[in-house]
Amino acid sequence: MKIISVVVPVYNEEDNIEHFYEAIVDVFDKLDYEFELDFVDDGSKDRSREILRELEKKDSRVQSIFLAKNSGHQLALTCGLDHADGDAVIMMDGDMQHPPELIPELLAKWEEGYEVVQTIRKTTEGVSAVKKLTSTYYYKLLNMVSTVHIQEGGADFRLMDQVAVKAFRRYREHARFIRGMIGSMGFKQTYIEFVAPKRFAGVSKFSPKKMLHLAIDGVMAFSTLPLRMGMYIGVFCGFISILLFLHVLVSKFVYDDAVAGWATITACIVFFGGMQLTVLGILGEYIGRIYEEVKNRPLYLVGRGRPKDEE
Ligand code: UDP
Ligand code: MG
Repeated sequence: MKIISVVVPVYNEEDNIEHFYEAIVDVFDKLDYEFELDFVDDGSKDRSREILRELEKKDSRVQSIFLAKNSGHQLALTCGLDHADGDAVIMMDGDMQHPPELIPELLAKWEEGYEVVQTIRKTTEGVSAVKKLTSTYYYKLLNMVSTVHIQEGGADFRLMDQVAVKAFRRYREHARFIRGMIGSMGFKQTYIEFVAPKRFAGVSKFSPKKMLHLAIDGVMAFSTLPLRMGMYIGVFCGFISILLFLHVLVSKFVYDDAVAGWATITACIVFFGGMQLTVLGILGEYIGRIYEEVKNRPLYLVGRGRPKDEE
């Protein structure tokens, strides 16, 4: 029988894990596949770890990896993919926002021969209008600057054939925007749409800061357009300064008004200073990223691995 690995990053999900586990068992009870549930605990501070240990004892199909600290959803997911050895791997959130009922559909597409089955979140119940709007415009912006097409609403809920998972493991960059990376890998892909329900319990573990970092990673990992923008800004400033210089010449020789204009000078200093700092900032962002990559530190540290790997 084929084995399906289900990879689930969790961070402080004490009220969700058991419910999620039962939902997965229910789904696979009706299917002709064996499953293995690989939780990646992303440094939880609540009772999540104890609950995961209990589950492991109760059901040997549940295997958990405990990361040494909170490394973020994208790295926790990476850790799970590094270990998942099923014939196909399904990655999903542990808060029921990625409905387990969709699993049979994902598997059916896989059996049709697709190597990546991506889900697209059509809407999320109870999400604020602001989050919806920023998300839509973010993907528009991302696709304007990006070298690869990144599907709007693409969730980190997908099935990958082991072949695609093996390929993904070769990508070792630190700044990760997994949905873009997988999209750019190629392979035979298809899409399934779904409506994301509200979280089963607890609150979102994505703070606005984490969200902003992921958004910036997305743009920077798939585009060097911001750097080129620096050049455009420079050219624009050069053009403005020619106009200002003409203005000075006209003031002097036509109106003989040499002293006036301090306001223009101040405005110029502020304007060019601002532009230079902007461009420096963009450069700094890329250099910071180069620095992070060059250090080549491990992507994540495992505190305790899966029991089956440690045997
Ligand atoms: N998560 C994680 N590490 C983090 C933040 C989140 O492993 O630093 C997990 C979280 O437990 C959940 C999934 O990633 O299983 C998605 O997070 P969340 O539901 O908070 O995000 P949202 O659905 O609000 O975008
Ligand atoms: Mg969620």
